[in-house]
Amino acid sequence: MVGTDVMTAAAPTRPAVSPAKGQAEKPSLIGLNREEMGDLFREVGIPDRQIKMRVSQIWNWIYVRGVSDFDVMANVAKDMRAMLKQNFTIARPEIVEEQVSNDGTRKWLLRFPPRGAGRPVEIETVYIPEEGRGTLCVSSQVGCTLTCSFCHTGTQRLVRNLTSEEILSQLLLARDRLGDFPDRDMPIGTMMPAEGRKITNMVMMGMGEPLYNFEEVKKALLIASDGDGLSLSKRRITLSTSGVVPEIFRTGEEIGVMLAISLHAVRDDLRDMLVPINKKYPLKDLIAACRAYPGLSNARRITFEYVMLKDVNDSLEDAKGLIQLLKGVPSKINLIPFNPWPGTNYQCSDWAQIEKFADFINAAGYASPIRTPRGRDILAACGQLKSDSERMRKTDRLAFEAMMIVGHGEDD
Ligand code: SF4
Repeated sequence: MVGTDVMTAAAPTRPAVSPAKGQAEKPSLIGLNREEMGDLFREVGIPDRQIKMRVSQIWNWIYVRGVSDFDVMANVAKDMRAMLKQNFTIARPEIVEEQVSNDGTRKWLLRFPPRGAGRPVEIETVYIPEEGRGTLCVSSQVGCTLTCSFCHTGTQRLVRNLTSEEILSQLLLARDRLGDFPDRDMPIGTMMPAEGRKITNMVMMGMGEPLYNFEEVKKALLIASDGDGLSLSKRRITLSTSGVVPEIFRTGEEIGVMLAISLHAVRDDLRDMLVPINKKYPLKDLIAACRAYPGLSNARRITFEYVMLKDVNDSLEDAKGLIQLLKGVPSKINLIPFNPWPGTNYQCSDWAQIEKFADFINAAGYASPIRTPRGRDILAACGQLKSDSERMRKTDRLAFEAMMIVGHGEDD
């Protein structure tokens, strides 16, 4: 059901500091803001006068150097390292599967340990290299409460929200695997120059609706864009929403990243069917929220994602409607050829029709790139790797449901 279960989807609470507990129960230092990290250090007895210095030291190791082991923190005294190790973790999630497409697209299926009474969860992260840039597509929830009819994730029930640690860990792990952190033997304080990095952009377009997990997503993105750490420019981070109108203004105001809207239809009757959250927040409200997006300008346009569905939303009437709808909103339109999945009733529009649609929009002055499907040989659209893994484990009676193919915008 549309928009339900938001409350039950709260991210699990962090474990309290409890010395000498098992690794899985130790709180992670990843995903905490500086104040929270300082509070935890205080709890384990680090003197007040050292807190600020320790936080910036550890912050640097975690986010600039990318270490996942306290033992390599060369400028931290041995007994302090031992104490940190005893009480906290900075470990990465387990890689269940890593696939590399022949076009360079990479996809990871990651497993996070159980939280509280929960069980381990698995999510996907996809890296898409392109000419001059590389985009990491990050998940915000395990499953989704929304039921967009063209999306395979919409067929999976929501298991839970991801914590800021789990959201950020996707970026840290991808940087590890792509060699995007400085070498261990480079002098302390060395930053990886932005132009040399493989991951230049990050999109919250993986599994889930990020604005139904606002606080954890906000915390993760503020850490990802922190200039003394991972240092991704906010202009290179895009959050994609299906249209959770009340949180759109806050996204611009409190996080300040680029916005993308999973639009897919220009009439309420059709969008009610394709993106059912539209029944709650219809197009009029959605577009009004877009117009009011803080910082919106021709240099900071909103991306509208539009999946091309044969004989459903791909007529020139629809293209005309799209132009009218977006009139006056600085926009870019991403046309996404639909990637059919087993059991779907939709088909991808004919290529000639997609081109006609794109030409029409272009002629009206909108940039409207057609997204090239990527990583098809490794099922790189969100949800498919998880789908595969789970199909295998159905025999093990692990309770997950059928999967998706088009995630929250399957490509950048
Ligand atoms: S398109 Fe996004 S919001 Fe809609 S079901 Fe898929 S993951 Fe959820």
